[in-house]
Amino acid sequence: MEEIRIGVYICHCGFNIAGVVNVEEVAKYAATLPSVVISREYRYMCSDPGQDLIKNDIKKLGLNRVVVASCSPRMHEPTFRKAVADGGLNPYLYEHANIREHCSWVHDDKELATKKAKDLVRAAVKRVYRHEPLVVKEAPLNPNVLVVGGGIAGMQAALDIANGQNKVYLVERDPSIGGHMIQLDRTFPTLDCSECILTPKMSDVGHHPFIELFTYSEVEEVSGSIGNFKIKVRKKARHIDESKCIGCNVCEEKCPWKTDSEFEMGLAKRKAVYIPFAQAIPHLAVVDPNLCAYIKSDGKKCGACIKVCEAQAITPETLLKQTDQIVEFDVGTIIVATGYDQFDPSVIPQYGYGKYDNVLTGLHFERMTCAAGPTGGKILLKDGREPERIALVHCVGSRDQNYHEYCSRVCCMYALKYAHLAKELSKADVYQFYIDMRCFGEGYEEFYKRCSEEGVNFIRGKVAKITDEALSDEEKGKLVVISEDTLLGKLVRVPVDMVILCSALEARSDAENVARIFNLNRRADGFFLERHVKLDPVATPTDGIFIAGCCEGPRDIPDTVAQAEATAAKALSLISKGTITTEAAVSTVDESICHGCGRCEEICAFHAPKVASKNGTLVSSINETLCKGCGACAVVCPTGAISIKHFTQDEILAEVAALTEVS
Ligand SMILES: Cc1cc2nc3c(=O)[nH]c(=O)nc-3n(C[C@H](O)[C@H](O)[C@H](O)COP(=O)(O)OP(=O)(O)OC[C@H]3O[C@@H](n4cnc5c(N)ncnc54)[C@H](O)[C@@H]3O)c2cc1C
Repeated sequence: MEEIRIGVYICHCGFNIAGVVNVEEVAKYAATLPSVVISREYRYMCSDPGQDLIKNDIKKLGLNRVVVASCSPRMHEPTFRKAVADGGLNPYLYEHANIREHCSWVHDDKELATKKAKDLVRAAVKRVYRHEPLVVKEAPLNPNVLVVGGGIAGMQAALDIANGQNKVYLVERDPSIGGHMIQLDRTFPTLDCSECILTPKMSDVGHHPFIELFTYSEVEEVSGSIGNFKIKVRKKARHIDESKCIGCNVCEEKCPWKTDSEFEMGLAKRKAVYIPFAQAIPHLAVVDPNLCAYIKSDGKKCGACIKVCEAQAITPETLLKQTDQIVEFDVGTIIVATGYDQFDPSVIPQYGYGKYDNVLTGLHFERMTCAAGPTGGKILLKDGREPERIALVHCVGSRDQNYHEYCSRVCCMYALKYAHLAKELSKADVYQFYIDMRCFGEGYEEFYKRCSEEGVNFIRGKVAKITDEALSDEEKGKLVVISEDTLLGKLVRVPVDMVILCSALEARSDAENVARIFNLNRRADGFFLERHVKLDPVATPTDGIFIAGCCEGPRDIPDTVAQAEATAAKALSLISKGTITTEAAVSTVDESICHGCGRCEEICAFHAPKVASKNGTLVSSINETLCKGCGACAVVCPTGAISIKHFTQDEILAEVAALTEVS
């Protein structure tokens, strides 16, 4: 039998580890453990000189197992596996002990932290002793990509990938692509018209030969793994014949049933059959089954749209019989770009949103200032008058311990944009209530200066209350904004006609469900978690799934586009490689004790186990290309026939036994 020769390397990680853990003592201790032939400590093991120590020792001292005790294996296990491989060993003859997150970052007591580090190193040594060499295999990667969400992030990612002649399936929940950006009027700081810069992109997406667009659709199920995901999409019934609708709008004109338009933020009505907005892509009608009298009465009432549709796209069959369709396809990579929700300020009762007609949110103001919007670009109060004074309230739901502690990053800038637009489109005096101005992007500070010079009144302080209770004649019939002015050190009451609440951007209300479908993690603030905030900001812990835009946190359009392009680059680099390396630490079946019960098949999310008859007996076997080594099958196996390479019972029990020894 081969003699086991283990090298142990303890990293200082600067003061990150060495500030709390006595690394010299841990290294000395490791040298006393059985089969350890060399034990070293070094300032930065992940640096080139640190890795060279390992490579040289493998060659000179004949090491055949390596342990590194440093930071999180998520960060550096691949680094050290590669160093071990470069030294000539199988990369799986390596074990990692995390003495940063598990010791120095979580303990103050140096003595106890050092003791724990020794325990972790001893456990790693015991475990690595039992490691076997494993082989990594290559499997083909499906070059097709799924993009979820047709806002600016999803569209940009889809176009970048499709322009390289790769097939993209773009799935958008709403009847049209466009996301929030198509609702915006002008965009800071350049004030270019949002529609004008977005509609060409929407059109490109709609007509791209390599993009298959599913609107009014949602992904219901994702299975498989990187390189080979299986997707199930629910395409909701539009209740029209898409192949015949020419988007002429006559049905909408004649439809008698009205409700608030989602696109116009309730400032205008839409019909039961409608096209969401003038530039919608695809330019097709959709019928709201909860409003359509014909559908609700099972064909007994109305039917106005059927009568006027010359293209015969709306018929009794489309209205009454059309049902949702389930569409299935395979892709190799996925980009999730599901965006954000605007925070609902009605949960802050003292701001009066929902109580006072003229307390609005940012998205309302966007629609109001838009020339094609419900007021034709005029800033109007509910009663049709022009406001004499407008208040802009920053940080509504953001930077507030009661709601969201984070900064929404765009509100200061869009508030400045509104100040400018209010000056341009009305004669109103503008009052901005801010905590402090955050103008961090290109041209942003300059835009702030420009607005300051346009005669906007800036009041530094958090608004306490918005009320219609007047204390003077000047306040009668007005909304009074009550705030501290921290620069003057006094309480101010400013009577105004209209208040715009600059509401936070928050995670989508269904983010938990989307996270479940795509196996994503969420941060405490509800947004999707990136693999590494600095070094891998668009990847997720699930290989092959990337996140772009505001689903990962609030950001402006330039940052959203840059991030979308980054996800496209990630997907394209996988596509150009064409293969994926499969997991080496996969399940194996001991056929002599397998009963072929099939519980492994039922539990596996990746469809790796298959039970079949072998020599007349039912046994399970594992498709190693599909297996992710998650271990679910081993847990449910009633006979213990399934084990996971690299995580065998022997290895785990040795590690646990070592941890319970006294150092
Ligand atoms: C009031 C206001 C004003 C703003 N003004 C500016 C500005 O002037 N300049 C600027 O740079 N930024 C501005 N922003 C920020 C800008 O809106 C965002 O940066 C941008 O819209 C983010 O795009 P996105 O694609 O990530 O998200 P979204 O625009 O939210 O798009 C996400 C898309 O995904 C779809 N979707 C959601 N869930 C699903 C699902 N489960 N399945 C399928 N599809 C789904 C949605 O329907 C939507 O179409 C403003 C924001 C607000 C609130």
